[in-house]
Amino acid sequence: FTSLNTRRRLTVTVNKTAKIALITGASRGIGRAIAIELARSGHHLCLNYLNSENEIHNVQAECQTFGVQTIVAKADVSQSAEVDHLFNELKKLHGHLCAVVNNAGIRSDGPLMLMKDDDWDKVMEVNLRSSFLVCKRAVRPMISKRHGSIVTIVSPSGISGREGQTNYAASKGGLIAMSRSLAREMAPFGIRVNAVCPGVVQTDMIKDLKQELLESFLQYIPLGRFGEPAEIAAAVAFLCSDRSAYITGQVLIIDGGLTMGH
Ligand code: NAP
Repeated sequence: FTSLNTRRRLTVTVNKTAKIALITGASRGIGRAIAIELARSGHHLCLNYLNSENEIHNVQAECQTFGVQTIVAKADVSQSAEVDHLFNELKKLHGHLCAVVNNAGIRSDGPLMLMKDDDWDKVMEVNLRSSFLVCKRAVRPMISKRHGSIVTIVSPSGISGREGQTNYAASKGGLIAMSRSLAREMAPFGIRVNAVCPGVVQTDMIKDLKQELLESFLQYIPLGRFGEPAEIAAAVAFLCSDRSAYITGQVLIIDGGLTMGH
């Protein structure tokens, strides 16, 4: 029994090569904070973005202050050919792709009855299909090293649902199911797959929400405040590290207690 356990544990201790992490949607908000946290923990970084050119170069400069190598890769992660381009760019970094964070995401809320087909499709493509496209390409190098961690950013909507978010909730619920299924598929290869579920975090994603709606959320958050991107990033960095070597298939909720119910 002991020797069996030792053999499995070896996979997390033999990796001496440089650590590489890929973060989708690293230009703003939570993705930006994750990039900085992973740079702090010594990862060379592939920083993906789509539109925010100035912002991604600022993130790159901040990450480089930790002495790590970084490349910036523009790609719409919902498009197969662009994800191919992203993984080609990734080859410019030397080391082992040990961490992938599926963070890029969008919302396009509205009642289902009035929702345009495009609003459904776009949200499913950017949030859910993108993770399929990225994971499919990421697991091959991880399998060859018998080591890796994939973290996907989901949402409370994907657990309990939210009116006006049938598309967003379906995409995030799909990501949770995908993450758990992939965790089972990849466990024999020493690859862990987890999801992080932020509550309400003040980023551009929620800046269209009315102040009174945001204030009404506060009464349901036992800690009485919204989350900071850095608080989500700290948990992601933990799940990317070997300190979480025995955690897979989990959804880590970071929401100030919101989803405990009342
Ligand atoms: P944000 O500030 O709006 O940032 C979204 C990021 O996604 C940007 O970097 C954006 O890149 C990128 N992105 C969007 N579409 C993309 C595409 N097709 N290809 C590549 N990148 C794309 O949002 P956030 O709040 O940080 O959200 C990050 C993740 O956390 C999302 O998955 C979101 O669903 C989830 N989340 C957020 C909250 C919250 O309260 N904020 C709560 C729960 C879950 P460009 O700007 O370069 O286009």
